Amino acid sequence: MATTMVEDAVPEAKEANPFESMMSRFDRAAKLLDLNSDLYAVMRVPNRELKVYIPVRMDSGRIQVFEGFRVQHNFARGPAKGGIRYAPDVTIEEVRALAAWMTWKCAVVNVPFGGAKGGVICDPWQMSQGELERLTRRYASELIDIIGPEKDVPAPDMNTNEQTMAWIMDTYSMHARHTVTAVVTGKPIDLGGSRGRREATGRGVLFVVNEAMKKFKMTPPSTRVVVQGSGNVGGIGAQLMHEAGYKVIAISDMHGGIYNPAGIDIPAALEHLRATRSFEEYPNAERMSNAELLEIECDVLVPAATENQITSQNAERINCKVLAEGANGPTTAAADAILQRKGIFVIPDILANAGGVTVSYFEWVQDRMGYFWKEDVVNERLQDVMVASFNELVKFAEKHNVDTRTAAYMLAIDRVAYDTRMRGIYA
Ligand code: NAD
Repeated sequence: MATTMVEDAVPEAKEANPFESMMSRFDRAAKLLDLNSDLYAVMRVPNRELKVYIPVRMDSGRIQVFEGFRVQHNFARGPAKGGIRYAPDVTIEEVRALAAWMTWKCAVVNVPFGGAKGGVICDPWQMSQGELERLTRRYASELIDIIGPEKDVPAPDMNTNEQTMAWIMDTYSMHARHTVTAVVTGKPIDLGGSRGRREATGRGVLFVVNEAMKKFKMTPPSTRVVVQGSGNVGGIGAQLMHEAGYKVIAISDMHGGIYNPAGIDIPAALEHLRATRSFEEYPNAERMSNAELLEIECDVLVPAATENQITSQNAERINCKVLAEGANGPTTAAADAILQRKGIFVIPDILANAGGVTVSYFEWVQDRMGYFWKEDVVNERLQDVMVASFNELVKFAEKHNVDTRTAAYMLAIDRVAYDTRMRGIYA
């Protein structure tokens, strides 16, 4: 595809800041769209940011106070939507970027949500289930006035899961005095969760990779895939790609990866990881660091772990044909131009990992109807959304002669801008 990119150099000091990465892409797309200055002023900032201090009685009997955030970025297209992340190093800047990405992501796949994100600074690996439950309930109670099915609908993100969502749903329901399943998505199926939600992000990655393969006339058995991360997105994505006949040659977790150019038996590797909590000692594969894994020669690279993995420092050595961004923000803005110069076809995060929020939308719809769909129906509707959004994006990029990431931002910003303009700015 012939493309042009407006060369707005990103100062190196800002490179690792995900909000700066998001903003430099936003600014580039806004400039190409010639976005009206009033709309630009409103859309470049979040709608609301809440910071909370969360006292938790630890198992030792002592109180520990944790810091948490919820950033609600935009409501123009519907209730805000976005996950909650538990991590020792989560920052408000990161949460702000993730909230904005949710706005653009929902707009790219055209689901009627705005964007939000939450985070709590904690080390979930060092906490008992009881401590995590108390942390989650108290955090939810601090958010009670600003979340809700019509306001802001949280979901799982890194280190939170179905259990976390069940606790939030229960806490919210206790305060509301009745059960409100649609306040969160990613719940257990028996508590109003959707069939297919757990696998949705990985399945969405598979669907867009399938489309890219069609575009480049490649077939799964001859396609070598490298996956960074083996959690909800990476692990399930690798499993589904393996089942679809792709040759997954490397996979990792936060401690490092394994590589076998002949292909890895993904179900066996994930079982090994589950049983031993590590890929170490997995037979028939070479051990390697995450940094090395990203540079393996392959056809499809799926970074599905965390932000800032592909930067100006290593982009030159990225050796894939297609980059399918399972994680949010795995590539810094400074790396974009390098990847483009190398001719790498990027399926940007705000499309590639949008399967999760798409099925979250289906879950919210099902909760509000009180009628639940079969898994085949969920997967088929997910496929319709991902395939249509991929093709729309490629067409848009070709029409406007821009790279796919810029096209995704332009499409999203244009949709949010249209709705904001039609609603009018309450100023
Ligand atoms: P997860 O906690 O289930 O898994 C994360 C994986 O990444 C684990 O294998 C972990 O070991 C690995 N990892 C963590 N830090 C790492 C590091 N510094 N280097 C290498 N590996 C590291 O999380 P997840 O839900 O799979 O989310 C992964 C990414 O996908 C995040 O960026 C998240 O925001 C994004 N995402 C998730 C969903 C979803 O539905 N879960 C949807 C859209 C986007």
